[in-house]
Amino acid sequence: MNMTIPGARVIDVRASLPRHKTLRYGLRKLTDIRSAAMHHSATKSGSPEAFARYHVNTNGWPGIAYHFVIQKDGVIYWCNDPEAISYHVGNSNRHALGICLVGDFRTQKPTPEQLDAANRLIQHLQVQIPTMKQVLGHQEYPGYAWKNCPAFPMGTFRTNYSQFLQKAVGKVDKPKQIPVAINLNGTLLAATGFLQEGVSMLPVRAVANAAGGKVEWIEQTKDVRVNGMDLNERVIDGSAYAPARELAAAFCLQVEWDGSNNTVGLRGGV
Ligand SMILES: [Zn+2]
Repeated sequence: MNMTIPGARVIDVRASLPRHKTLRYGLRKLTDIRSAAMHHSATKSGSPEAFARYHVNTNGWPGIAYHFVIQKDGVIYWCNDPEAISYHVGNSNRHALGICLVGDFRTQKPTPEQLDAANRLIQHLQVQIPTMKQVLGHQEYPGYAWKNCPAFPMGTFRTNYSQFLQKAVGKVDKPKQIPVAINLNGTLLAATGFLQEGVSMLPVRAVANAAGGKVEWIEQTKDVRVNGMDLNERVIDGSAYAPARELAAAFCLQVEWDGSNNTVGLRGGV
């Protein structure tokens, strides 16, 4: 398979990673692959070699669990042939391709370089493997609801991914958005948010101005921080939007959703 990806660096480590002395993963056809499964390594740092050693020596598996590992600097390590039915999502292994981002996202965030590389990798794979239509978090596979993996919000990941896709193919469309009104302590704000995949996204700056909070823009990581809290924000036309629940938590506000008129109610603080 051609793994030259524009804008990304791919290192083929398939032949050099530790492997089991005798056991080998079963093989499938590329057309058996239906989804990309996203994982985090659940370790603050790590390498494909270290994961492979652990999966082989400790778990007794044929080789590393993942097909691709993405380091924090965005370098993509190609670890298994896509045809390998490696062990990473139990009963769904036959139809899933494993992509692991190095990091423990219970306490860390994926780096922008990692997310960009993941987007490029998935887009590239979807061209090579047209049957791979879905991108799911480990936790979204049957039987894994209990597992906090990949520990980053998949809805946001997919939204950003579909935006990336649209950019990549040259038609920058705004994703379908339902406007959401914002009621802060009984007053309707002039600014609006939007509803996407069931999550209300609110304009960070407008809510901060009204609620009186501190917004920081971290240039290096292109991150928005509110009252010192990292948010899973999205930047649209230069304005940052964050999930209502996260934003409310950063401002110590109560949040409630009124579905009858698409309004987020924020209460307290100020
Ligand atoms: Zn996982």
